[in-house]
Formats: sequence, structure tokens, C-alpha cells
Amino acid sequence: MNLYSTDIEIVHSVLLKEFKKYRTPVVDLIRVQTNDPFKILITTILSARTRDEVTAAAAERLFEVISSFDDIDKNNIKTIEKLIYPVGFYHDKATNLKKIPETIRDKFDGKIPQTVEELTELPGVGRKTANLVVAIAFDKPAICVDTHVHRICNRLGYLITKSPLQTEMVLREHLPVKLWKKFNSCFVAFGQNTCTPVNPHCNKCPILHYCDRIGVKTKFPPQ
Ligand code: SF4
Repeated sequence: MNLYSTDIEIVHSVLLKEFKKYRTPVVDLIRVQTNDPFKILITTILSARTRDEVTAAAAERLFEVISSFDDIDKNNIKTIEKLIYPVGFYHDKATNLKKIPETIRDKFDGKIPQTVEELTELPGVGRKTANLVVAIAFDKPAICVDTHVHRICNRLGYLITKSPLQTEMVLREHLPVKLWKKFNSCFVAFGQNTCTPVNPHCNKCPILHYCDRIGVKTKFPPQ
């Protein structure tokens, strides 16, 4: 499959159906529970390099004490660390959370910005987090490319890229906009459960027919 194939729409719709069988990623879960961009932004920051169940528990503890930028101002880094522990890089995340209110007030008139470029000006927010926030908190087209999206798109033969950033740029140019918002959610769930980084389960893959299996070493059918 290449960039000009319409099969990507079929793949997307198959994975969307598959996605419903898996546990919902924590950031989507927060979206179901609240429309509050503050909570979605903070949960997305906490979720980086952290398992979903750990993120969910940490977010719940944090939001019992802190539910606004003013609340962040009232609490020190140690308190925030204790609330979010054991998320990955909890010290760095607490330090960044502490700095965010000031940046929001100074640069964005106290409102959470709604573009990827502006969001990446916030401490600790990279493109992946920013794209997720734009799509989930503000319901705008954005493509969040993480390691799963990058790996699977390359295995499919849909594109040939060397980094998630390059994948994001190619997808922005070629992927139909209507597929952007849900692309990350369904590819991540699929990448965690079926098209895993090592030994993907091609023998039970619902999109095998559309996949060039680029770089996949395991034989198929299994021997
Ligand atoms: Fe991944 Fe294998 Fe499915 Fe291709 S056929 S998408 S490599 S699991």
C-alpha cells in the first residue's frame, strides 16, 4: 500500500472497529468523562512514558486537589510530585506543571492555546502531546504520531520514514483529514495488542490483506 492508495480508509475503518474491543486509552477515557481542556492537557502530559492505569490513578489523585491553574500556583513541586507519583519522570513533570500557569498567562492571555505550535511552547509539551490535546480537548484535526503509528504505517508500506516527526509531516500532507482525529487512538491500541514492536501477530491480523509487512522478519504463515 502506498500514499496514494485508498486502502488506508479501509484499514482505518477496520482498526476503528477493532479499537472498540480493546481497553480505551486513558486520554480518550478522560475525554469521555470531561470536556475540561485543563484536565485533558494535564492527563496527556502525565501519560507520556507511563502505563495507562498508572496515569489514570495519578490523574484522579491530582484532580482531587488541583483542578485549575490557580490550584497549581497554590501547591509546591513536592506536593505535586507526591500526587502524581509513580508516573514516569514524575519530578520533571511536576516541575513543568508548576511552570505552565505562568506561561499560559504571559503568552496566551490565561487560556490554553489550541494549535500544536502554540501548545509546544508550554513546558514539557512536545508535538505528540500537543497533537493529542488539539484533537481530544478541542476536537480539531491533528495527527498524533507516536512510535506505534510510525511503526505500523511503515510496516504497511503506506510510507517510508525514519522518525515519528517525519511520519507526522508525511501524514499531514497525504492522509485524508477526516481520518486524522481517530488515527492515533486506533493505531495505538492495535500496536499494543496485535502489531506489536517485536513478533507482530500477523496470523490473526485483520488488515493482513492490506499490509506489505515491510521489515517484519517473522515468517507468514507461521511455520
Ligand atoms: Fe502488523 Fe503483521 Fe498486521 Fe502487518 S500483517 S499490520 S505487520 S500485524
